[in-house]
Amino acid sequence: MSDSQKKYDLIVVGAGAAGLLAAGHAAERGLSVLLVEKMRQAGRKLRITGKGRCNITNDAPIRDFLKKVKPNGKFLYPAFHAFFSQDMIAFLNAHDVPSVLERGGRYFPESNQAGDVVDALIKYAENKGVEFLYEAKVRHLIKEDKKLVGITVIQSMQMQDIFADNLLIATGGKSYPATGSTGDGYKLAKQAGHQIAEVHPALVPIEVEGEIPSRLEGLSLKNVNLSLWVDGKKQDEEFGEMLFTDFGFSGPIALTISREVYSPISLEKQVQLSIDFKPALDDKVLDARLQRDLDGNGKKQIGNLFKQWLPSKLIPVFIDLLHIDEEKPAHQVSGNERKAIRKLMKNFRLEVVGLRSFREAIITAGGVDLDEINPKTMASKYHENLFFAGEILDLDAETGGYNLQIAFSTAWLAAESVSGKE
Ligand SMILES: Cc1cc2nc3c(=O)[nH]c(=O)nc-3n(C[C@H](O)[C@H](O)[C@H](O)COP(=O)(O)OP(=O)(O)OC[C@H]3O[C@@H](n4cnc5c(N)ncnc54)[C@H](O)[C@@H]3O)c2cc1C
Repeated sequence: MSDSQKKYDLIVVGAGAAGLLAAGHAAERGLSVLLVEKMRQAGRKLRITGKGRCNITNDAPIRDFLKKVKPNGKFLYPAFHAFFSQDMIAFLNAHDVPSVLERGGRYFPESNQAGDVVDALIKYAENKGVEFLYEAKVRHLIKEDKKLVGITVIQSMQMQDIFADNLLIATGGKSYPATGSTGDGYKLAKQAGHQIAEVHPALVPIEVEGEIPSRLEGLSLKNVNLSLWVDGKKQDEEFGEMLFTDFGFSGPIALTISREVYSPISLEKQVQLSIDFKPALDDKVLDARLQRDLDGNGKKQIGNLFKQWLPSKLIPVFIDLLHIDEEKPAHQVSGNERKAIRKLMKNFRLEVVGLRSFREAIITAGGVDLDEINPKTMASKYHENLFFAGEILDLDAETGGYNLQIAFSTAWLAAESVSGKE
């Protein structure tokens, strides 16, 4: 580094949820900060969160919040104590983005525009004096005498070295790579000596065997129970909404359950998903209901009677799986056939063949090994001037605003730590 070259107090790599907040807060605390982003704009992923509405955070208390996080929610205690959901809501409110609380403790911007959250974060960082460097991809970290002193970026085909006292890597994971999150940060972390816990897609649609999904494509189900079976044993279940796609399952409960699918599938275990279309009715009550409807509509064809029980798209699939003649009058439906109908309604089972790729995953599981990061500062245990925040860490949570809060809390704590150093 030449004497005339500028040296920043902090370089933040990645202008996503974590990077923007960390850069702004570090600058607010008096540091000179450069925020380097490889895309043309900041916060590309943040703009598409929550189907464009941005589920900012969740109002669950810390203890419940931590239970939603894998593999080790407790790592987040200090970060959540430094900056938690209500702090983020207050922060956005102070930056003219009021929010509303919805079902399941989910906060959204009142405007329903994720873009408002991104714009507020960019404005915050700009107003606090953060310098932005766009379309600049960080290629590697610069080491001098084993100490990290800066980064090498490539911008418009030109390599450039930039120096700083501290580095914060906030490059996100590998999911939705079109937004810029392509896993570059793992290479940077490895270069600094860090281990990366195996990364894989999480909160991701699930592929199942056979042609049933394509027949049911687009069918959205509410108030159903989805259970996961591994080698014949129930492992997990979720209640709520799901969606059939041409290859399998998506929608909130399928995405949540997908977090439990990766491990048994990679171990080549038998993995099945079962839908209970009538979770509010136990076998006895459902049987009585079917019996009553069959008795009360004796002349009706069974195919028509199904309309009282199931969404119409499901009916031809049920008819085929039950091998029942859809024109059969209800009074001719046998006890065994009624039992088979009930069983299929309560246990509609499909064989899982895999998960979709990172391209469709909401989040990346795995990442920078938490054992090598100080949870009280977000600093590397190998380099006192290297920090990590956001999805690059080996942390992932359910849907519901939890993942963004992890990014915001770890970013805030990292910024406090850098600016609190002597
Ligand atoms: C479709 C979708 C919807 C989602 N909805 C929600 C939701 O509603 N609520 C919620 O809590 N979570 C949601 N998430 C998850 C959430 O978006 C992430 O947890 C969050 O964005 C992680 O923030 P981050 O700052 O760590 O990473 P990112 O937001 O991914 O930002 C990383 C940034 O680093 C940049 N970068 C990467 N490599 C380099 C490099 N070499 N040089 C320079 N820059 C680089 C990238 O371009 C990117 O801008 C959603 C995710 C997806 C994909």
